[in-house]
Amino acid sequence: MALITIGLIAIMLVMTYLVSQRTIRRSRAYTVGVHLIEAAIVIGGVVLLRQTFWALNGGSVADWGYVIAQLIILLFSLYAMQTLAVTVVNLLMPLVFYGQSLYLGASPRLWWLFTLMLLLLGGVVGYISRHQALALESEWRYLLLQFLYGLAWCVIIWSVLPYHWFYAINVLVIFILYMWIIRVFVTRVNLMIAHFARLSQAANYDELTGVRNRANFDTTTVGVFGVYQQHPAKPITMAMFDIDHFKHFNDDYGHLTGDAVLKHVAQHFNQELARQTNTGELFRYGGEEFVIIFEDESPSTAQSVVTAIRNTLEEHPVHVNGQKLSVTVSVGISALQPADLDFDSWFKRVDHYLYLSKEGGRDRITVEGQTRKF
Ligand code: GH3
Ligand code: MG
Ligand code: MG
Repeated sequence: MALITIGLIAIMLVMTYLVSQRTIRRSRAYTVGVHLIEAAIVIGGVVLLRQTFWALNGGSVADWGYVIAQLIILLFSLYAMQTLAVTVVNLLMPLVFYGQSLYLGASPRLWWLFTLMLLLLGGVVGYISRHQALALESEWRYLLLQFLYGLAWCVIIWSVLPYHWFYAINVLVIFILYMWIIRVFVTRVNLMIAHFARLSQAANYDELTGVRNRANFDTTTVGVFGVYQQHPAKPITMAMFDIDHFKHFNDDYGHLTGDAVLKHVAQHFNQELARQTNTGELFRYGGEEFVIIFEDESPSTAQSVVTAIRNTLEEHPVHVNGQKLSVTVSVGISALQPADLDFDSWFKRVDHYLYLSKEGGRDRITVEGQTRKF
């Protein structure tokens, strides 16, 4: 039983790590989906443990070893996964257990005790899911929460299956010892996950502006090109823009002001882009040059989105030392075409359109070869 429990915990640890990697900066629907998968893993673990023990123990699950294993899995999931779905699983489990016991013929005589313990358990589960880090951090708090969690469960079981109190003490002591060991692991794993999240942020996001960086652009475009080859009917559009006469900001006001202008423009575009569409992704390609990839968007839609953002940028100039600095950009836009055999030919075309906007006098946009003033 101990080996099965350890195995399940190991699987849950790995799953938690894998999904936490994927939820970094993903859409809300994606995160909710991942949380539901986590809840399913916990329910799957509980059911697997029950069936395994049931088979090993000749068709019965009335055993304290089994109870301890189930409690460890449930409480562990609460500490390791930190999602609403897992909290709900933890809150529903006593109801499932109670309902099943009544169905199998137990007496509901002590329903009030069950209700009381359910409230206690609800309080403990609620506290752990809200203050997970705090509970793990402080030893006495962790100990108290485990004790209350184990106690509530022991009394819940007792309310339908009266047993000798001596067993409850044994269960509580073993449960607390195991959970103490698990605390060491959970703390380590949480540190590891936080470390990887920081690494992923540093590898994929630009430090100055906070938007996606060149490395992320390179990996994203490989994926985008693959999607286009499989679904050529879906338009994919690239917009490239470059700040006009950016060197002047550096030369006239200093490098720090240049940095502030860059940051302002990048963050303004990023925020407005997220507000206007959910198909555009902004990257800092290098220096004061940025790229937006619009998946499933035509060049004319991309043009209206970029124009609208550019217009709001005009209304929100950069403020430096009480001075207002107006910033303009030049833009090139083109859709990926069947004739583009590789990514480079598309990229070069967009770059050329950006060049046409610069050549045309800056503060201009060139869409599929047509240049106009903003
Ligand atoms: P154009 O309108 O033709 O684009 O002119 P420009 O002055 O914007 O372009 P140019 O390529 O001549 O100058 C870009 C400058 O941007 C040169 C470089 O020193 C500066 N730069 C690049 N990265 C950064 C940065 O991270 N911070 C600051 N402050 N300046 C940067
Ligand atoms: Mg420039
Ligand atoms: Mg440039």
